Formats: sequence, C-alpha cells, structure tokens
Amino acid sequence: MKDDFSIKGEIIDALSSITDPQSDKSIVDTHMVESVDVNSGVVDLTLVLEKDYPRQNRFDLEDAIYDKIEAISGVQEVKIKPMTPEALKREQSGEAPAPAQTPKSEPKAQPAASAATASKQPTMPASAPVEGVGKVIAVASGKGGVGKSTVAVNLALALQKLGFRTGLLDIDIYGPSLPTLLGIDDRPAVHERRIVPIDAEGLRVMSLGFLMEEDTPVIWRGPIVTGIIRQFLRDVDWSGLDYLIIDMPPGTGDAQLALAQTIPVDGAVIVSTPSELALVDAARGLQMFKTLNVDVLGIISNMSKFIAPDGSEHYIFGTDGVAREAQRLETELIGEIPLDTKVREGGDRGRPVVIGEPDSPITQTFLEIAKKVNELRPLDEKTSEPKKKGLFSFLKS
Ligand code: ADP
Repeated sequence: MKDDFSIKGEIIDALSSITDPQSDKSIVDTHMVESVDVNSGVVDLTLVLEKDYPRQNRFDLEDAIYDKIEAISGVQEVKIKPMTPEALKREQSGEAPAPAQTPKSEPKAQPAASAATASKQPTMPASAPVEGVGKVIAVASGKGGVGKSTVAVNLALALQKLGFRTGLLDIDIYGPSLPTLLGIDDRPAVHERRIVPIDAEGLRVMSLGFLMEEDTPVIWRGPIVTGIIRQFLRDVDWSGLDYLIIDMPPGTGDAQLALAQTIPVDGAVIVSTPSELALVDAARGLQMFKTLNVDVLGIISNMSKFIAPDGSEHYIFGTDGVAREAQRLETELIGEIPLDTKVREGGDRGRPVVIGEPDSPITQTFLEIAKKVNELRPLDEKTSEPKKKGLFSFLKS
C-alpha cells in the first residue's frame, strides 16, 4: 500500500495545478493551501480564504480540490477546513478553537473576521521556536558538491558522541542525500497526528528524500518548498533534542527564506572548499543569512588538503583560501576537514566516518568542530529542557 508520505507528495503536486478563480493563479502559489495532513489515507486540508471570497467561487474551488485529491490512489477520505487568514492567525496563536470541518455537500459559512484587518494574501505565520529543541543550526553552502551534507551528518553524529541529543533535518531540495548517507530505507510513521522522525544511529532524522521516489526528479517550487519546510519544523516531533542540525539546499533561495521566516535559527555554518569559485558563492550564502538576520557562526573548510598514503600533504584547492575569506568576511574558520577516502566511502556505504571509523583522525576533526559549535551556541537551562512532554521525552532520563 502507498504510504502517507508518497500520497502527500502527489497531493501537493495535484493542488498546484488548481487555479484560484479570483486571482487566476495556482492555489499553492497564492498560499491558499495552509496545510495538508495525510493520516492512513485520510486527508485534512486547510484552505485559507478571505472573508469576502465569493461563495460560488469557493464551492467551485472546493469541488476541484475534492476531485483532484480523490483521484489519487490510496486516498480514503478528504476533509477541507476553510479558514479566513484572521481565524488562522488566531488558531496559531492559540486564541480561538478551529472552526468545525466542512462536509463536502453543505459548505459552512466562513467564521467572522474584521474587514479592517483582512489582508489580501494570508501572511506567513510568525516565527516561533521548534518545540522542545535547544538550538537549531543550519549547515549551508554556496555551491553543491562541496560536502555540505557529509559535514552536516558527521557534525550531527559528533554532537551526539559528545552527549547531546541531536536531530538532523535534510531540506536539500536539489538532492536530499540523508537517506543514502545514513543507509535509511524506512519511511517515517505518524503518531497522534505528528510525524515521528526516524532513529538512525541514535539521531532523529527527517529528510525530504522520504517524500520522493528514488530516481524520480522532483521539481519543488517556492510555495511548496515553504510549505514542506514549515511542516517539517512544526509537525515533526523533535521534542527532547539539544541540537537540531539542518542540511540546507546549496545557494540562496526559497528554502533559506522559508527557514528564517518559520523559526529563529540559532546559527548557520557555511561549508566551502578552498577553491576561489566555491568561496565566491560561500560569501553570497553568508551574506544572505546576514540579510535574514541569522547569525553566521563561521566557515568550515572541507577538502582542505589531501594527505597521501606516504604522509605528504597536497593542497589541491589552494592553501589558506578559506581562512583568508573568513577573515575578510569577519567570521570564524570553524575547522578544516581534509579530503579523505574514508569520508567518501563512509557516505557511500551509509555509515558516516564518525561512526564507521570512530578512532580515526578525521573523526577527531569532526569532534573538534562539534565542540566549537557547542562553544559558539551552548545550551542553556531554559532552552535545553523540552517545553512539552513529547515522544522523545523519555530520552531525558
Ligand atoms: P553537497 O551536500 O555539498 O552536495 P556531499 O556531502 O553530497 O556534497 O558530498 C559530495 C561528495 O564528496 C560525496 O561523494 C562525499 O562522500 C564526498 N566528500 C565530501 N567531503 C569529503 C571529504 N572531506 N573527503 C572525501 N570525500 C568527501
């Protein structure tokens, strides 16, 4: 049977082809679809409509949504919850209960909202911390292929080794590699309407890769990326974690924006090789985080040098490039990771070097980097305690 995650991917695709008769744009592009939950084939969809949205248009829209979603195999039932932007805001801030579900045949009147405060488009919900997580650290890069995901996964495992409860969220839209890097074949489960991250080597893991069929190129567009990132941060039970490491897509785009708008990010680290080309893009990435008011903790130089079997050192991408760039950008050089076959082999085998080769010098390097991250963003009493009893609260003991 198709799992809820695959169904959800198909639903989001299908919804993006439905046009809002008012604006003549896709209902996904106009942020009218606030959320889509799939639980054992039962679909709950929140549709945001202005208070004065014409009644007939709304019925047509709902019919189109029912038709599209019901045509997807594996869907058992579809429930649409229409809300005004104001009611949505109230619900998100906990001020008012949600209106009742609207049955398909007899749509209900919209909840009342003040016309004075009505905006044309529903706005993004205010940034709020990820529940139960101490510190959120984004791992980013200007370019693809510089080893960002490899660093993210080994950094997370190194933090775990230092005794911190750590989660890893992979939102690399261009190539989510966490399932491969950690050798995960499972799909996440849903428990009491919350998504349960997969336990891999003691890490709590969630990846966009769990939503995609292998080898199927998926083109994720802006609003979809935003919606999924928000859901990964809000609907996944991350409770009980000290650190949540986020593997970002390379470059500067929707994902960075969505992340910074959804949660307060405690810090970003930029991964770069010492090559001039990579550094130019790394600087752009750093600048974008600054613009989004996210503190950049520093740069990690990956593939900084190659140590040959005879012990000789080769600076393939040049020497000191990252250190100089870090100085120019007034940020830190957090660490330097050499080009090491063990790192590549570990990634390919689904057993990252920090766990596969625990006593190697390269693991030591990752541990030093993890210590540095912890120094730069230490946990404090207030944030290290889960705010609410969650699925992983047993890990506290
Ligand atoms: P990105 O996330 O930046 O696209 P990846 O983490 O997927 O990059 O790494 C790209 C390739 O480089 C992978 O095959 C990975 O195993 C390899 N790699 C990354 N860092 C190192 C390193 N320090 N030494 C050897 N190979 C590395």
